[in-house]
Amino acid sequence: MLLTLPAHAVTSYSTMVGRLANLADRSSLIKLYDLGKSSSGDRSVWLTSVSDPSVDPRKTVRILILCRQHGDEPASTEAALEFLDHVANGTAAGARDALRHASLYIVPMVNPDGADLGTRENAKKVDLNRDWGHFNAAETSLVNKACRSIRPAFVLDMHSWDQPDPFRSNCFEASRDAGAAASAERDLQRRAVDEISDGTGQAISATSYHSGIEDTLCHRYMTGWLEVPSLLFETAAGPSSGPGFDRRVGLARATILWLLRDTAAHPDAWKHLVKVSACDRIAPSLTFGAASTVAKAPAPPAAPHRRGFPVHILWAIAAYVVVAICVARLRPVSREPGYIRIERVGEDEDGRPISRAVYVPSGEYKRHVLTRTGKR
Ligand SMILES: [Zn+2]
Repeated sequence: MLLTLPAHAVTSYSTMVGRLANLADRSSLIKLYDLGKSSSGDRSVWLTSVSDPSVDPRKTVRILILCRQHGDEPASTEAALEFLDHVANGTAAGARDALRHASLYIVPMVNPDGADLGTRENAKKVDLNRDWGHFNAAETSLVNKACRSIRPAFVLDMHSWDQPDPFRSNCFEASRDAGAAASAERDLQRRAVDEISDGTGQAISATSYHSGIEDTLCHRYMTGWLEVPSLLFETAAGPSSGPGFDRRVGLARATILWLLRDTAAHPDAWKHLVKVSACDRIAPSLTFGAASTVAKAPAPPAAPHRRGFPVHILWAIAAYVVVAICVARLRPVSREPGYIRIERVGEDEDGRPISRAVYVPSGEYKRHVLTRTGKR
């Protein structure tokens, strides 16, 4: 019997670390950083940078890409490793030019415990993409600290739907917020949807969310709290092996390369992204894992609802409307609105009529009508 191996097999944590170390050895463009230990303490969260060593990365457009917060969504890790292979081999078309003014920071496996266990959550059963702003998990805390050292102009959080569902298509999700970061990310979202679907032949949709709702998701936290433009990337459901998996990995890889090349294709749009994101206001340190660097970063907010729409006002308005309707229905008839009747009360010395306005409650009006028509 012939054994056919899929083109993309899911890479384990230890294999990934070996490949990353090899890539950093082979290419002067790629560097590798250990951000610290995962929740189990058994594995590390790794960061790779892709930058031109002849350019100061602090003066470049910096982009942070997060892969596999959910351990059972492996496509983005494979895509990142393939993209890095292309960079090291010099086969990532247009990348070298773009790296003159842009740098990528990629976390290829945010959740290494979940990846090896085959679970969505980390080893302590925390869903990392519901932990932003809380930072209860070691992994999100480490990546957040790195993000504050990088001060990126843009953050891409890469996922893949894990359940077969025809409604869950390939998509980029952006905020509907009116703020500058949200508006800038929607511009990028439009270009990404159009150009990446043209380039890959895969349909991609643009989805959106209201700020203040579930803002413990990474991209929502980035836009709503840090004011760093950010998109969520999802690929339509499919298997984790064979042609369906190849499709997902291919789309994710094309997205990473497109993002880098877009910085060169639309420099004005990226200048705007740099301007609206926090990276323009706080200089990046670009040192990772050092306690002194982390201590200098502003403390993250304690609870994630400060910037969202004040939901309690909506509840107050709804309660007022309900009470007002109930009161209106319980009002006695005599207090319903009536009408103004003009009555003639006499004449002045020149014979002109003198009138007065009389308020007639509607109850009396109804009685008057009923009496007159004899329908009591
Ligand atoms: Zn996910």
